[in-house]
Amino acid sequence: MRLSNFYTKTRRSMAAQDSKNAYLLEKAGYISQVAAGVYAFLPLAVRSLQKIETIVREEMNALGGSEVIFSALQPKSTWEKSGRWEDKNFRQIVYLDPEADMTFGATHEEPMTIALKQSVQSYRDLPVILFQFQTKFRKELRAKSGLLRGREFRMKDLYSFHPDEESHHKFYEDAAKTYLKVFERLGLDAYRVKASGGVFTDEFSDEFQVICETGEDEILVNHKTKTGFNKEVEDKLKETDKKKLERVKAIEVGNIFPLGTKYSDAFDLKYLDASGDRQSVWMGSYGIGISRLLGTLAELFNDEHGLKLPSQVAPFEAVVINLTSSKTGEKIYSDLTEQGVEVLLDDRDEMAGTKLVDADLIGYPIRLVYSAKTAQDGKIEIKERGSGKVTLVNLEDVVGRVQKLLS
Ligand code: ATP
Ligand code: MG
Repeated sequence: MRLSNFYTKTRRSMAAQDSKNAYLLEKAGYISQVAAGVYAFLPLAVRSLQKIETIVREEMNALGGSEVIFSALQPKSTWEKSGRWEDKNFRQIVYLDPEADMTFGATHEEPMTIALKQSVQSYRDLPVILFQFQTKFRKELRAKSGLLRGREFRMKDLYSFHPDEESHHKFYEDAAKTYLKVFERLGLDAYRVKASGGVFTDEFSDEFQVICETGEDEILVNHKTKTGFNKEVEDKLKETDKKKLERVKAIEVGNIFPLGTKYSDAFDLKYLDASGDRQSVWMGSYGIGISRLLGTLAELFNDEHGLKLPSQVAPFEAVVINLTSSKTGEKIYSDLTEQGVEVLLDDRDEMAGTKLVDADLIGYPIRLVYSAKTAQDGKIEIKERGSGKVTLVNLEDVVGRVQKLLS
């Protein structure tokens, strides 16, 4: 990709924002604020979100999920039927178009359960595991944390349907393992934390939390086992056990819920077992905040010059900045492209300083600069954004070196 053909614009100055992630992502041209908690995702963010989604999708497929896209518009009657409309906390977060009696999807337990009534008749039709990537809408009262708390945000949600508690439990534990793998692949150190079921279930749920000073959650953790408890359930802990845990701030990047038969019973989703008896379907739901993840990564990976996203989620893996009039920069750019490196050529008609500052701000994991000085020795400069390490490399070794750094 050539930067002259890629829609993006960094900002030199910007007013302070509520959050570090919004400030950095907006300054670097990833996002553009529309209103509090509402953002447009610009091409740089779209590339990062797609990479996050790809990792999540691969793991959800490996878990046995089938991808769907359900409607964001949902009849209000759906929520009345499950009884959730009576829940004041739930009703407060749902956007409603009163004229059409339609709501904007805040979550999808009900629509998924309704849909399965058509396809699940006998035990042979179970389990069913469906997931989607979707924009969710919630009236968040304190939308002051950039992508961490959107009123409109991207979520991966998965719903599982099982013949009994035991098979649900087994899947639930597999899902928890898969979640930890997803976060590890994204470069995040996640803790599995017991929390309340919120507006979803009366049981405990499991949250996946990433320690971060600016996080909105407070959790008590054991660093050895990478487990812990959300502050909201701390009154259920014994004082002696509590003393062994450390209290830290964190961001909830995922949440999984054992739903039991709450929703299947509300919609009479039943199946016939091997003896021909009607049985309740056991359910679970499993969310990951896709856009919150981008915000989390921005909160954690940065310095005074800008973003330092890990290469598996950065919009591009490398940038080539050619400060000479020779064609060498072009050649390196096309060689890298040919080898499958996601490289951008900064071919804009801009000052060298601007290109270098932008490279740090956007945070390309690898910056290659070809200048008159490096050209003298037949070399090119490679700077790793993560560590700040700078090396001079022979032109013929560039591709190999970049590939090695990215592997
Ligand atoms: P929170 O406690 O932070 O309000 P939640 O428990 O209401 O979140 P869930 O319903 O569990 O959220 O949603 C699944 C995942 O979606 C969360 O773990 C989080 O990563 C993400 N998420 C939830 N609400 C938001 C939001 N307002 N903006 C961005 N991401 C969100
Ligand atoms: Mg949650």
